[in-house]
Amino acid sequence: FEGMTVVELAKRTGSSVRSLQEIMASVGEKVGSEFDPITIDVAELVSTEVGVNVKRLHSEEGAILKPRPPVVTVMGHVDHGKTSLLDALRKTAVAAKEAGGITQHLGAFVVSMPSGASITFLDTPGHAAFTAMRARGAAVTDIVTLVVAADDGVMPQTLEAMSHAKEANVPVVVAINKCDKPGADPERVRIQLGSEGLPLEDLGGDVQVVEISALTGTGLDKLEEALLLQAELMDLKARVDGPAQAYVVEARVDRGRGPLVTAIVKSGTLSVGQYIVVGAEWGRIRAIRDTLGRATELAGPAIPVEIEGMKGLPMAGDDITVVGSEERARMLSQGRRKKLEQGRLERMSQENQEICAEEG
Ligand code: GDP
Ligand code: MG
Repeated sequence: FEGMTVVELAKRTGSSVRSLQEIMASVGEKVGSEFDPITIDVAELVSTEVGVNVKRLHSEEGAILKPRPPVVTVMGHVDHGKTSLLDALRKTAVAAKEAGGITQHLGAFVVSMPSGASITFLDTPGHAAFTAMRARGAAVTDIVTLVVAADDGVMPQTLEAMSHAKEANVPVVVAINKCDKPGADPERVRIQLGSEGLPLEDLGGDVQVVEISALTGTGLDKLEEALLLQAELMDLKARVDGPAQAYVVEARVDRGRGPLVTAIVKSGTLSVGQYIVVGAEWGRIRAIRDTLGRATELAGPAIPVEIEGMKGLPMAGDDITVVGSEERARMLSQGRRKKLEQGRLERMSQENQEICAEEG
């Protein structure tokens, strides 16, 4: 995008240079020569006004990429032990840190391994959350942990999870859970998954399978190792320097602190004091906390943090964009809100027309 001028934007949006300059002036932007470069914020704002979508393409060209932790989502059939597994993993996360701090439920947590590597788990099991995030364009998950109970085997939601992962092109690591149970039959689960087309490692494929018990904790270390190995194969890297691009994992309102957003940075670094536009809301980052509640100034890639300072409540899956000033933040969020409202009205009038057509 770098270095776009008003002339180019006019070409791309099919509007006249003059009308774009008028819009810029009306939102308080300095209007220079039509060959002056304009920022992405202004381009988005102006384009929204003339009804054109601007997609922010972040050029990673020339940027220094550094390895980042994988972001993992746990999926599987109801009662197969997703919540138990996340609870057990979260405990290892806190124990390892010996922080003794209050574990906050932020919708995500980090497990740090003795080797120094770490894994970020999204704490919102369930396929609805995964699909909702994807529908909003938030491809945050790198790996799906598919939980299958050893005493129950492959069930409808197991298959559903498999197809979600496949559609999203996200690799699966299978955790055969409840292996402590007398009726456990992990071999049967392997055969079932294999016959459903999952290319298991044991059968010459590349999908790792680990036997665990979320109840006793057996095999959790093996699962973590498997996830790190998968991550290594994927060579996950992110740009650390420069403006952040991030996603909302969860948002809630705290009585004292106002809207709180759990975010995961995709690339770049968020820092306290920055103005951000989050979906159709905006704010200025007043505080950043890690998942153990410790205050920090910066948030880099793949580590979940809690952000304080939003003026309104965004939604899970919303994107977080850093902008240069309060004025821009306000205008960008206003522009997006207007667009949302327009979309809503259009859908409503379409529905009305359909009703009329039916009646006619
Ligand atoms: P979810 O619906 O997938 O989140 O499943 P839950 O985590 O709520 O677990 C459902 C039930 O299975 C609960 O009663 C758990 O205590 C039990 N459970 C989960 N993991 C294990 C396990 O490894 N072994 C045994 N014996 N029970 C388990
Ligand atoms: Mg559950």
